[in-house]
Amino acid sequence: MDIATGLEIASKATTLVAGITTFLKSALSSGDPANANEKVAEALEKLGELQDVIFGLREDRVKLQDENHNLKAQIKKLEDWKVKAAPYQLLQTAGGAVVYHSDGPPDHFACPSCYESHKIQILQSDDMFCYFVCHGCKTGYQIKNPPPQAGGGGFWN
Ligand SMILES: [Zn+2]
Repeated sequence: MDIATGLEIASKATTLVAGITTFLKSALSSGDPANANEKVAEALEKLGELQDVIFGLREDRVKLQDENHNLKAQIKKLEDWKVKAAPYQLLQTAGGAVVYHSDGPPDHFACPSCYESHKIQILQSDDMFCYFVCHGCKTGYQIKNPPPQAGGGGFWN
């Protein structure tokens, strides 16, 4: 329920209460038992409508409380992520990989794919010292340049 709908329902409830009050005052002041019975019957009908409105408002209140609870949980989760992600900056490493980096301690790199999913996965050095792997999504990143080989051969040859 949005605010406009809530105001519309509250306005309807107020109108119903005013109508009930008018019927009952009219019944009391008429002095005619037949007319009083008719007015009381109309007032009871309006009370039934008011009860329906109140039940609807209770249901809406429960929905709004659930929605509020869920939104607060989402805000908390985003705030927690913001604090956790704050020390990381996106950079391009010497090996050409674009990853997140934190000065730590300890100084480390984090997986950019997992970062987008609001997870910090610290990249771990693979057997080869210039290549790092995310153990969350199994993606590898070349963090460092391979050392030059003696005799002119490349590292990968
Ligand atoms: Zn990853």
